[in-house]
Amino acid sequence: MELIDGKKISNDKRTEIKERVSKIKQQTGKVPGLATILVGKNPASQVYIKSKIKACEDAGIKSFHHNLNEHSSKEDIIALIKKLNEDSAVNGILLQLPLPQNKDTQDCINAISPLKDVDGLHPFNAGLLNLSKSWNEIIERNILVSCTPLGVIHLLHKSNIEIENKIAVVIGRSNLVGKPLSMLLLANNATVIMSHSRTKNLKEICKSADIIVAAIGKPKFVNKDFIKNGTVIIDVGINRTSDGLCGDVDFDAVKDMDIKITPVPGGVGPMTITMLLENTLKAFRGCSH
Ligand code: NAP
Repeated sequence: MELIDGKKISNDKRTEIKERVSKIKQQTGKVPGLATILVGKNPASQVYIKSKIKACEDAGIKSFHHNLNEHSSKEDIIALIKKLNEDSAVNGILLQLPLPQNKDTQDCINAISPLKDVDGLHPFNAGLLNLSKSWNEIIERNILVSCTPLGVIHLLHKSNIEIENKIAVVIGRSNLVGKPLSMLLLANNATVIMSHSRTKNLKEICKSADIIVAAIGKPKFVNKDFIKNGTVIIDVGINRTSDGLCGDVDFDAVKDMDIKITPVPGGVGPMTITMLLENTLKAFRGCSH
């Protein structure tokens, strides 16, 4: 087994981002800004938001945090988003999900200006991703893509893992992870199989894969029966169990196989926040021309 070291790849990228922010400041006198919105007091969301704010500070990106109480209405959330859309110091807006009682999440996301949509969840950006024909086009057109899938592609590129011509099985079809990641793998010329809870023969399908991405939210779901030697496994899952944090892959059960794999923690997780910083710079560039 060979580990794909998300921590190191993420740290290298953050160093590069910090240098770019410093250059932007020197050249323009401006500092990119990210606004974060947390509605309610979900403990996991509070931890994520804290990490995001700290990552911004470390990179020299200005952060503007807004807490709304859990009883805030959709109108309250949208009113704040509209204010931030108009604020020229704010280049990116991140609405921390899930919202309490999942209240009208998509309506709130739709209120974010597509130019500031650093989570890539606005239909405009999701549409651009779906219309793009290649990875180069995604980069050249400065398309804002959901952070976790972007982080996965960055991990694969930086680990010199060939994507073109490979069979990639993505388990999970969420708008946040599975769908955009499938589009990114396709843009990198993989042959992509999107699978989900209704997929039959998932084990056999996974056994045909060169790359497996597990984005399910079920602890240790993917085991030896899904994997052949030589496979690259990207574990997106973050599951809190009584034994601590674990991924969607049964790491201990597969670690003696001839595979490359991302650990949990220390794999995809660190890349997600790093790509949020990257997207904030992208949004800054988008606003400044
Ligand atoms: P989600 O919205 O709950 O989607 C889960 C997906 O898994 C659904 O498409 C579902 O299929 C599929 N699924 C569920 N049970 C399945 C089964 N038995 N066989 C095959 N597919 C199955 O979750 P998400 O937001 O994509 O997140 C997935 C995981 O990634 C979670 O553990 C989450 O915490 C983690 N995550 C990590 C990061 C990070 O930074 N590392 C970021 C985001 C999410 P259906 O569509 O048919 O229901």
